[in-house]
Amino acid sequence: MTTNAISLGTPEPEPRGTTHDFPLSSPGSDDLHTLIGTVLQALSDGAQQRGGPVPAGEPVELAGDVRDALGPLLLREGRGVGVLASLTEILARGAVDLADPAWSAHLLSPPLAISAAADVAAAILNADLTSWDQSPAGIIIESEVVRAMCTLVGYDPDAAAGVVTSGGTESNLVGLFLARDRPGGPGPAHGRSVVYASRSAHFSIRRSARLLGFPDENVIPVETNARDQMDPDALRAALEGGTREGRWPACVVATTGTTDFGAIDPVEDIITISRAHGAAVHVDAAYGGGALFSGKLASLLTGIDGADSVSLDLHKFGWQPIGAGVLLTRRADAFAPMAFEAPYVNAADDLRAGHLNHTDRSLRTTRRADAFKIAVTLQAVGTERLGEMVDHCHMLARHAARRIALTPYLALACDPVLSTVVFRYVPRADVPARSDAVNVSLRRRILAEGKAVVGRTELRTRKPSVWLKLTLLNPFMTVEDVDWVLDVITSAGSLEDGGDTS
Ligand SMILES: *Cc1c(COP(=O)(O)O)cnc(C)c1O
Repeated sequence: MTTNAISLGTPEPEPRGTTHDFPLSSPGSDDLHTLIGTVLQALSDGAQQRGGPVPAGEPVELAGDVRDALGPLLLREGRGVGVLASLTEILARGAVDLADPAWSAHLLSPPLAISAAADVAAAILNADLTSWDQSPAGIIIESEVVRAMCTLVGYDPDAAAGVVTSGGTESNLVGLFLARDRPGGPGPAHGRSVVYASRSAHFSIRRSARLLGFPDENVIPVETNARDQMDPDALRAALEGGTREGRWPACVVATTGTTDFGAIDPVEDIITISRAHGAAVHVDAAYGGGALFSGKLASLLTGIDGADSVSLDLHKFGWQPIGAGVLLTRRADAFAPMAFEAPYVNAADDLRAGHLNHTDRSLRTTRRADAFKIAVTLQAVGTERLGEMVDHCHMLARHAARRIALTPYLALACDPVLSTVVFRYVPRADVPARSDAVNVSLRRRILAEGKAVVGRTELRTRKPSVWLKLTLLNPFMTVEDVDWVLDVITSAGSLEDGGDTS
């Protein structure tokens, strides 16, 4: 037993000055104006010090510079607000400029300025979507963003549901969880439950399955065709085989926009076949979902409205700062396996009184109002302009493919579908080991020189297996920019092939 001793002595003096030196983030405060001004200035100073679109140098040099500039983090006495400027400078100096055409490596888009600015508002307010009393407007805005995304994929927004997530990885995990625990199945982590996905599905599918208790061998790889799309006949055969062996098909995962080729699985066929075998269908549209904005490309995703759940990622096509994922389900009751009771979040009487929240659909509890920047972007830009931006990236990819096909010493892996282009530099002695070595080193060369960041991938079915990749997500890049990047690659390739380095 403890006793509550009441001290009647003189109170300890207040610690010196802390509240005044470091004011809280509060809308309308002069301090925030000053600090944000400092950040913007330091970002531009840092970019200038970098002196190019990407930081030049070898990893050890860069790491050393950053550590030196950073200094120790656990200081007994802090250094004061000046740190904001110096550390922002370091961050920017060692960053890549996503808006520069020299960046075309990964599925990370340059965010729109308006969206980044909107995101600052969410950060300043620290709007938390866990419960109504922490951000009523944020929660309503999330509801409306989800309804808009349901409409975009063709779901009935009155019957469907969804939640804003940190990205495709979280959306895929929750999508697989809802499929695994849907009514009629054998329940959590049952040894008979299996997931079907093509070999080109994103790695987060296999890892989510593992987290959800599916042994690796219960994630059945479905064969793909020459264009990297899931082969419906192979899916049918796999499902039939599974049924014969007494397995329960928890989920078939279709990918619309694979990470390398942007390949789009035939969703309509996959849904028909999966339904016939009692499997749920999750569509990973993290990359290709953006095609829904485009009048030209939307038909690639025909049938997506029949899927049980869909992952979208607006920090790819969508030009949002990270994170801006969305998970949608065709039916709202699909989220039942996520249900929980916590009186400080979802007391029944509060919910009846209109204290809405979507925490019963989210893996996370405390959650930023990422829906806000999405809402601002959708309304400011409009779907037509977003579609034109997607189309522009697609056009750039087609241009790059044509250029590659016409350039001696470059070889195209296959025609682009969305906005990625996979190709390689062809050395004079074109044997797989030589080609792999040259492509590996040319990519690192142009990165170390601070010229450009190009992607790299490995194609398991091919020899040579190392390929380069342009991921074109910059809606303001021009065809001349694409030509420039290809020229940089060709020159670096010829230097590497000359054998005069390393
Ligand atoms: C990017 C991507 C993911 C992962 O999404 P994150 O937002 O990075 O978590 C999953 N699937 C596909 C097809 C992707 O392109």
